[in-house]
Amino acid sequence: MPRRIYLSSPHMGSLERGYVNEAFESNWVAPLGPHVDAFQEEFARCVGTQHALALSSGTAALHLALQLVGVGPGDEVLVSTLTFSASVNPIRYLGASPVFIDSERTSWNMDPALLTEELESRAASGRLPRAVVVVHLYGQSADMDPILSVCERYGVPVVEDAAEALGSTYKGRVPGTLGRVGIFSFNGNKIITTSGGGMLVSHDEALVRHALKLSTQARDPAPHYQHSEIGYNYRLSNVLAAVGRGQLRVLEDRVAARRRNYAFYVRALGGLPGITFMPEAPWGRHTRWLTTITIDPMRFGADREAVRVALEREDIEARPVWKPMHLQPVFAAFKQRGGRVAEELFQNGLCLPSGSNLTPDDLARVAEVVRAVHQGQGRHAGMG
Ligand SMILES: *Cc1c(COP(=O)(O)O)cnc(C)c1O
Repeated sequence: MPRRIYLSSPHMGSLERGYVNEAFESNWVAPLGPHVDAFQEEFARCVGTQHALALSSGTAALHLALQLVGVGPGDEVLVSTLTFSASVNPIRYLGASPVFIDSERTSWNMDPALLTEELESRAASGRLPRAVVVVHLYGQSADMDPILSVCERYGVPVVEDAAEALGSTYKGRVPGTLGRVGIFSFNGNKIITTSGGGMLVSHDEALVRHALKLSTQARDPAPHYQHSEIGYNYRLSNVLAAVGRGQLRVLEDRVAARRRNYAFYVRALGGLPGITFMPEAPWGRHTRWLTTITIDPMRFGADREAVRVALEREDIEARPVWKPMHLQPVFAAFKQRGGRVAEELFQNGLCLPSGSNLTPDDLARVAEVVRAVHQGQGRHAGMG
């Protein structure tokens, strides 16, 4: 039996083990420690931000980011509807309400025109949101210039969820560092991983200092334990930061490998009728963290789900594109602007195995199954 092919599995480089050994040998098996400091500095340099704070997850980073731009009970926060629930859950942790904004078709990310309409109508009735959360999906930046400019016009802070987009660019700049606060994730399936972890970045030193305090149980500067606000235990451990330092060194290799996967799939599947790849918008580099296609069932002869099931039968993991947040039962009570584009991408979209450690044989196996579904359906139609 060939081994299972995963959607996106961890891929260690050559340096991680040495850094982890250092942590063990110095007995620095604790949150905080020299690897955490070094990881933050190296990460900040890598993305070009002033300040970076290593945290236990991307979700924790987003929770702190939202709190620090002032989101609280009763507020509204505009957020991309086509995303993972972790982009939205922290809005609810804080007692605020999400308002979901549809995607555009160039990058699949938040539509600046819909965002502008929503902000204009809210400004007119004095109901501006407390923040906007922009998600950079599948390794590609949203169109940030119009988003930043309309948010600036109305004085609404932008929080960037760049959990999936480390290594991407936007007009030569780095998504995640363009708004007031940005967050990244090092979960096991992301382009680099610490097995679990996240980073909060901002050019605002006071904000990051406050985030540090909240992430370490909000201790006031006093020799005894004193607290004047509610804190969290959200720091990244020194051992995991050691893994992160090694991973950061191979980020460019990982981007190159994932873009090679994408190029392979385009060669192998691009000629099949009804298959379209997620576009690479003209404004920057798409890392192809995940290679994502849409399948037009009429032209391909089978729908997205048939392809996914056929892959699963061959022990190959593929996943539908994110189910939009406005369709999630848990968020049914909240408002939305648009939603048809995200619904269509969900209905027809499929994420193909995209790990940077896939072999040419793995990729060929995936392509063979997809082609066989198309041909099988074709034979069927011919016989009918
Ligand atoms: C993975 C992910 C997160 C959450 O990151 P964790 O580190 O898993 O908490 C948030 N937003 C998006 C879009 C993600 O893909």
